[in-house]
Amino acid sequence: MAEQRGCTQCGACVNACPVFRHTRREEYSPKAKQGVLAFADKGEPGLDPKKCVALAGRCVCCERCLLACPRNLSVPEALSKARQRRPRLGQYFWREWIRRGAVAWPLAAKAAPLAPGVLLPERLRILRASALAMTPPPRAKPWLTLEVSRMSKRLKTVIFGGCTATRLRPVWMKAADGILEKLGTERCSASGFTCCGGTYAHAGMLESSREAAKINLAWWRGLGKPAVVVFCASCVHSLRRYAQMGIMDRLDAREWLNAVTPLSTLLGGAKATLTNNAPSVPVYHSPCHWGDSDPDFVWLKSVLPEMVKGVSLCCGFGGVMKLLEPLLSADLASACWKGMEDGSPGHVSALTGCGGCVLQLAAHAPEHGGKAHEIRHWLDCIA
Ligand code: SF4
Ligand code: SF4
Repeated sequence: MAEQRGCTQCGACVNACPVFRHTRREEYSPKAKQGVLAFADKGEPGLDPKKCVALAGRCVCCERCLLACPRNLSVPEALSKARQRRPRLGQYFWREWIRRGAVAWPLAAKAAPLAPGVLLPERLRILRASALAMTPPPRAKPWLTLEVSRMSKRLKTVIFGGCTATRLRPVWMKAADGILEKLGTERCSASGFTCCGGTYAHAGMLESSREAAKINLAWWRGLGKPAVVVFCASCVHSLRRYAQMGIMDRLDAREWLNAVTPLSTLLGGAKATLTNNAPSVPVYHSPCHWGDSDPDFVWLKSVLPEMVKGVSLCCGFGGVMKLLEPLLSADLASACWKGMEDGSPGHVSALTGCGGCVLQLAAHAPEHGGKAHEIRHWLDCIA
């Protein structure tokens, strides 16, 4: 990475930001966020650092600003450091929510229907909808059947499923494992992996993020450095960041980056046959964390040529905005659905490749003809 220097306020990042593009509010642009965070650091008189961090916190941590910035500046990185310098009690609760999620998340999903939706204030209604979306929907009829040939060389693999799959959608783990079996890979146990650590970093808990990275790296090394097969864009993004955390030597970092393997990149040789269940215009939501290159869309488009991408940039799930700014987060999700409805009028059946996007878009799915639009991971639609 090039040396980072301060923000010049050039504005190259402004239109890359989904929050700015949705709200058209200058103060929510990455340029403004870099500005207020720099002010907060300097302790400018008359500016409340807490308010600066709160303003910069209207960020879904997509890092589209980083891709656009000639100085390689990332708002999420600056925000993480600012939050770390100003610890809050909420961070403790967030850490526990993630750490104890194997029990807490399914419990929240079960309890959500008991809360009287219409009587709740809007913020709580949004949280209830998010908890409801944690319950898996009925199994989808497959859109595609896959014939997967064995790889010429036996590859050693381990699946990194991430928190959503391991705690809420074990069917994704099973589907991914089935593909790896058909590919003839040597599959290792993933039982020593923990959270990718991305959400801890977004919330300013950089030590917890490093701790998670170290646990995952130790498990990978202990297995003899197999290919780490991932089917969630946000997990891929966070796992690749380990190489920049200063916790690996250069060779180890290179091996790690080579090992992190999006599952869809292993499917180039598979033969896919369309079933009658696929919609005439399948829609795809591209997760922000794929950045400029989305291997899931490349593969899906090759087997579903009619597939169109939704035009909106972000589902609003990322970072901790869903907790701190639930209304804005819900607005982004609604805009995202609108962008998908534009591409496929009528009832929308959409696919994506990120656990967070699935949960967020399911929580905010509007209805068409009395039936809620559907969003699934692409693994849900193959047999
Ligand atoms: S990370 Fe995304 S949402 Fe946050 S400032 Fe950058 S572009 Fe905007
Ligand atoms: S963050 Fe980068 S792209 Fe955005 S205004 Fe500053 S220097 Fe320019």
